[in-house]
Amino acid sequence: MKCALITGGSRGIGRAICIKMGGMGYHVLINYKTNTEEANKTLEQIKQNNGGGELLQFDVADKTAIQSVLGNWMQTNAEKYIEVLVNNAGIKDDVLMSWMKDEQWEKIIKTNLDSFFYVTKLVLNGMLVRKYGRVINIVSLSGLKGLPGQTNYSAAKAGVIGATKALAQEVARHGITVNAIAPGFIKTDMIEGIEEKEIQRLVPARRIGLPEEVAFAAAFLAAPEAGYITAHVLSINGGLYS
Ligand code: NAP
Repeated sequence: MKCALITGGSRGIGRAICIKMGGMGYHVLINYKTNTEEANKTLEQIKQNNGGGELLQFDVADKTAIQSVLGNWMQTNAEKYIEVLVNNAGIKDDVLMSWMKDEQWEKIIKTNLDSFFYVTKLVLNGMLVRKYGRVINIVSLSGLKGLPGQTNYSAAKAGVIGATKALAQEVARHGITVNAIAPGFIKTDMIEGIEEKEIQRLVPARRIGLPEEVAFAAAFLAAPEAGYITAHVLSINGGLYS
């Protein structure tokens, strides 16, 4: 059985990607940190679409939890194979660097960057054995241009962009593509509190993006026909590049 693992699948962009992957026929592994109720809603929506999946709760910032929960799932589900991995789970904690506490730096780096390494390393082996795979990393405009108040988040996302390009070259000959998607402002809990009018003023498209628009790009990169697209960063930002 072919599976797609989406980290942070309980809400926002991750949920939209889960539903899209379910529609593509993948058995969807919905990872999340704490919000079982919302994760179940994602699963319900996949099922309403005639798809299937299951919840896989672990903290992507905790390498021991990744090893035990995801590692254990892989051992006990030998007949299931993770063909698509979407590293989507992410958080931000904005503050000017002068005021940033060590914990604010470390938490953001662990959740957004270290998670890429530990989750992908575990899943990659199966892709290498089967000589096929799709790794899609959800980064951010912040990782491309840097945003004031986000030195931690910008560093983490820029780190994932560098890792995307490096890993893509390591595994290309094994039929595995590694790409990143860099959203601008997308309507999810993450941008709650930011004035919609202010975003509309900044964005050339004059609107906020939808999670489904990011999911469409993830489905494109996950498709078998996208096999020659790798080490790419696809911006989805309504024209907001600077
Ligand atoms: P969101 O609505 O806040 O949802 C975050 C998701 O990540 C939730 O499913 C949450 O699970 C999960 N998560 C958070 N920390 C986790 C952890 N330590 N372990 C496992 N799961 C964790 O965020 P979003 O806006 O959809 O963002 C998704 C990705 O897009 C992130 O990487 C973000 O940086 C990126 N992005 C978003 C925007 C935007 O405008 N929204 C722009 C650029 C980039 P729980 O429900 O259990 O908390």
